[in-house]
Amino acid sequence: MHGDTGLLARIVEHTPIIIIVTNNDGKFRYVNGCGEKLLGTRRTDLVDRSFEDFLSQIEGCLGWSQIMETIQSGDYCQTKMILTSLDGAEHICRLNAFCILDEGEPAAITFMLIDITDEAEKADQIEKKNIEMARINSELIRSNAELKKLSKMKSSFLSIASHELKTPLTSIKGYSDIIMDTMKDRLDSGVLRMVENINRAAERLHRVVNDILDVNRIEQKRLRLQVESMNLETIARDCIDELDSISADRNINVDFSIQEDTPRFWGDKIRMHQVFANLLNNAVKFSPDNTTIELSIAPHNQEEIHVAVKDQGIGIDKTDQKKIFDPFYEIANTNRHSTHSSKFMGGGTGLGLSIVKGIVEAHGGRIWVESAGAKDNAFNGSEFHVVVPVKANVAVEDDETDEIDISANEEFPEIAEDISPEQKPVVLFIDSDREAVEVARMVLENVFDVLVADNGELGLSMAFSHHPSLIMLDSNLPGMNGYRICNILRTQEETRNTPIAFFSAAAKDEDIQKCFASGADDFIVKPFSGKELVDKIWRILMKKKEDATFR
Ligand code: ADP
Repeated sequence: MHGDTGLLARIVEHTPIIIIVTNNDGKFRYVNGCGEKLLGTRRTDLVDRSFEDFLSQIEGCLGWSQIMETIQSGDYCQTKMILTSLDGAEHICRLNAFCILDEGEPAAITFMLIDITDEAEKADQIEKKNIEMARINSELIRSNAELKKLSKMKSSFLSIASHELKTPLTSIKGYSDIIMDTMKDRLDSGVLRMVENINRAAERLHRVVNDILDVNRIEQKRLRLQVESMNLETIARDCIDELDSISADRNINVDFSIQEDTPRFWGDKIRMHQVFANLLNNAVKFSPDNTTIELSIAPHNQEEIHVAVKDQGIGIDKTDQKKIFDPFYEIANTNRHSTHSSKFMGGGTGLGLSIVKGIVEAHGGRIWVESAGAKDNAFNGSEFHVVVPVKANVAVEDDETDEIDISANEEFPEIAEDISPEQKPVVLFIDSDREAVEVARMVLENVFDVLVADNGELGLSMAFSHHPSLIMLDSNLPGMNGYRICNILRTQEETRNTPIAFFSAAAKDEDIQKCFASGADDFIVKPFSGKELVDKIWRILMKKKEDATFR
């Protein structure tokens, strides 16, 4: 077509692809406009210069001599190279080269280049990012594994430490209980006060150990609920009664209300007691004297129950309102608040609310706090809200789903008066923890004949020869462990129907389940108070007697 050559020449000149034609020796013959721009010079300045001088090889790609070899054998060559323009700027280019033949002989070489610097840089950045991500990822996997290991170590440390703490606590609390119960009149008031302090400290430490174990259970999602039907009013009133002495001292009044149509609640009674007790204790702890706490319970949306605890205390800043539910979180400035008449800030562990949240959530509920904030000397108050489904959405773990009214915890008859010395039941302790057994012996002596075996083998032979009314067994014995002994006792004629209670500081759910699975009737957690021990033993004996009557 006429004029096509001129048109083609213009297209080649203006195309955004760099087109360079050289002689066979690589000397410039033609450079298009885009090529001039990239090389940073006019084509007239390129006469007698070689294109090779502007190119450098990229690692892993073909170099100049390999390009020449390829195209001279008649092939088309494609590679990547760096083109350095006269001003020193480097451009990464995709390069295509081929020979133009004249009567079968190479007459010129055509190079077509596309500047891919931006693309290459981006690819380079992406690759670097990918490498960085892979590194972070492997780091995360490693730290995750480390965290898992640490968390395992932490929980086994906690359970060992709590076991180790509970054993001496049994002795401290038990001995001080006995001194306070039986020797009050013989001690001067100073000594008695010290013993009372020891007793209180042991109780506090016991609470802290239990709190740590609870937090651990919650963190590991191992909190098991014993679901039963209950009246939340009973629990609320019990908790208010427990607060009485502290709140009366400080003239803090608890105003309780429950809406009439509030349904019965299905959940774990002991755990719900913990929720109410914690919220009320905090309300008292962070309120000035002569104020009122409002506790209200009402139905919420047909299927839920709403509990609110409102105080006139120091309030909680917005920034702290979520964090106070984290374990060990305590607001730093709360100690500044006090009244002239009473120091109302008690030190805590920062565990209470995290346990409350764990319990509420285990019941399928939610908890939050509302407060206008904490300001110096302004008592804005706080209102804690708990909303729980009427029926906790958890598996029922206990067959006894009927409510037992815990307010109707009738006092036991004075045991000592009821039993004549010759009728004293025999209690056999199979336990290597001497101190705990000694405390138990002092508590029980007036009522029971106490026998002690400090290892399993001796325990078995004493059980067969003395026919005890009750066997108290520690799971953690040297040699044959308590579960094995319990199994054996259950299979032997002499002891098949003897009540057996485990008497142990290991009180995790699985420990308790193991005890029952091995045939035990009950479980007593160390440390115990003297009264607790006598009550519990009495209950076991009475139950056994009833069972025998109805059998
Ligand atoms: P603690 O054992 O310290 O009371 P909690 O987990 O129960 O631990 O509470 C965490 C923190 O939340 C407390 O130290 C206190 O600063 C704050 N807090 C809890 N309840 C109240 C309240 N009713 N009023 C003001 N501050 C509160």
